[in-house]
Amino acid sequence: MDFLLDQDDANDDFMYSVQRDMDREAKKTEAKKLREGSIREFRMPKEPNGYNGTRVATIRFLIPFDAGLKLIRHKRYSATNKANSFTLVCPAEFGFDCQYCAQICKRHKITRDEMIENLSRYAKDEDFETRLFYVWPIWYYEANKGEGDVFLFAWDVNPFTPIKQIHNKNTKLFIFPPKGKQPVPITDYDIELTQFGEGTKKSWGVDITLGEFAHTDKLKPMTKADVKFGYAIAVCYDDEWLKTLQEARKQAVAAQQNGNARKKQPVAAQATDVADENSDENFDDNFEVGDLVDE
Ligand SMILES: [Zn+2]
Repeated sequence: MDFLLDQDDANDDFMYSVQRDMDREAKKTEAKKLREGSIREFRMPKEPNGYNGTRVATIRFLIPFDAGLKLIRHKRYSATNKANSFTLVCPAEFGFDCQYCAQICKRHKITRDEMIENLSRYAKDEDFETRLFYVWPIWYYEANKGEGDVFLFAWDVNPFTPIKQIHNKNTKLFIFPPKGKQPVPITDYDIELTQFGEGTKKSWGVDITLGEFAHTDKLKPMTKADVKFGYAIAVCYDDEWLKTLQEARKQAVAAQQNGNARKKQPVAAQATDVADENSDENFDDNFEVGDLVDE
């Protein structure tokens, strides 16, 4: 009898976990619908498309490297409990309360600003990760069956992402420009990324080709808010938060169109204020993508 009970319990656990996975998949599908038409996050191809099982993608940064938008991102990953995993751009970036920042700040009796100042110390605090991310709009040449499209490029700086190589390459170009020539900004060349291997065995090749960007006519003006909301929406799998973000984005757009509408639109005003804090001299509030090269 005990055995049977145990078996039932085990079954229940199993069914519960199956149900949880199904719920998660349903959520993902729903979130995907809510995200339709939004800018997407750049990812390497799922299947190898290059020589010897490599994955290849060609991209062009549309704003200078040092103009990437800074965002705090919380993430929890559990391979055994995927329903408990999440990736979230910190709601405080949009003027909302953030329970994750609050947990860290409460435990260490610090303010959020103090947390951000020493973020590496709190990166693995609690049971989730908190990291600073940089997001850049890029052109992804192979997207849309070779038609190309704008994506958001956001990767951590660690050995498993190409950022370091791109950054080094970029830095080298800035430090050692060809004799008598000006340094070359990252927006002046295409980057061919080659991914060797997978998971923790991943490594990267970065090849660059100097030249004009040929698809400027296909770019729409993009604001800092587009990048910020775009990235938060791209990584969001929580319907409620997704709807909140969409609503806040609408308000931010309306506030921008109404000029000085901050007082009427509290959420948008907060979002705009945060965006201002994040502002970079190279990153205009309303920039024409591809038009920042000579700044
Ligand atoms: Zn937060």
